[in-house]
Amino acid sequence: MSIIKAEYIWIDGHKPTSKLRSKTKIIEGSISSLEDIPEWGFDGSSTMQAEGSNSDCLLKPVCFIPDPIRNSDNILVMNEVRNPDGSVHESNTRAALKELAEKFSDHEPWFGIEQEYTFFVGRSPLGWPEGGYPAPQGPFYCGVGADEVFGRDIVEDHMDACVRAGIGISGINAEVMPGQWEFQVGPLGALEVSDQLWLSRWILYRIAEDYGVNATLHPKPVKGDWNGAGAHTNFSTKSMRENGGMKVIEDACEKLGKNHEDHISVYGAHNEERLTGLHETCSIHEFRYGVSDRGASIRIPMATANAGHGYLEDRRPAANMDPYEVCASLIKTVCA
Ligand code: ADP
Ligand code: MN
Ligand code: MN
Ligand code: MN
Repeated sequence: MSIIKAEYIWIDGHKPTSKLRSKTKIIEGSISSLEDIPEWGFDGSSTMQAEGSNSDCLLKPVCFIPDPIRNSDNILVMNEVRNPDGSVHESNTRAALKELAEKFSDHEPWFGIEQEYTFFVGRSPLGWPEGGYPAPQGPFYCGVGADEVFGRDIVEDHMDACVRAGIGISGINAEVMPGQWEFQVGPLGALEVSDQLWLSRWILYRIAEDYGVNATLHPKPVKGDWNGAGAHTNFSTKSMRENGGMKVIEDACEKLGKNHEDHISVYGAHNEERLTGLHETCSIHEFRYGVSDRGASIRIPMATANAGHGYLEDRRPAANMDPYEVCASLIKTVCA
């Protein structure tokens, strides 16, 4: 009989942006499928998910991966939050995506999400002079050298951990603002990319903790002439990836333009601080799409335009967005 440490991870009811929570359950035995992992509960009154007088919420395991930090047979378990009677809790955005993903599965939607984030120590981004500013932006993006990039040891640890855990991480890069980085997850189906993005965020926070560093997803962590942090969401359906896909992509862009406000409403809090029209963004009040245009709401990559098929990049989602909601809104607008 082996002892397994199962880290149950869930999304809380914090507003306007939910936070990750987790706690450990010791399980005796062996775990080979989701059915082997018991449901569990927590005190919802401490996570903005229940009143103190009726505080129990249910954790329903939805996927699990090897724990890349504790290693051995230990696991990380992603959960949906349910009410005590098993119904969907109001903070649970995954259940709705699951329904949509199943309904439109014949479109075979794929997502690749570019997660940008910023390291902080105390009140300053990592590597910034105490209470001051570094040199203006320019040399830092994809930079190398101790004067250009800050926190690479954490970033490498995080990437290794994601690979060990079987997360579909597809790359990393240093970002335009010093102390800011990006990793990409995908391309994967809607539920897979979303579960894995939440899990990889948890792994990032957990690893940075050991370095005494805090990773934040705030879309505009430093006001002024500094790039914000986004979560560009690359999206395609089967017909976009096939011959003649360019026309399907353009039709999708037209539909996205007609539903701009609906999308912005789930693309992350404080996104108006980031989508100003400066720093490689399009204003939050406008919608534009174009080939290779990093100042547009939607960019059609050059390789897609050249091939005549491929995918589109929605540049509007903020770093702190909920991928369950973003993927759901894209499927709803484009596939329905
Ligand atoms: P950028 O040039 O915008 O920085 P990245 O290389 O960071 O682009 O991210 C591109 C993302 O697009 C990757 O996560 C990749 O997995 C994803 N991607 C590639 N092909 C597709 C596709 N057909 N559908 C959806 N996403 C895709
Ligand atoms: Mn990128
Ligand atoms: Mn980027
Ligand atoms: Mn991008």
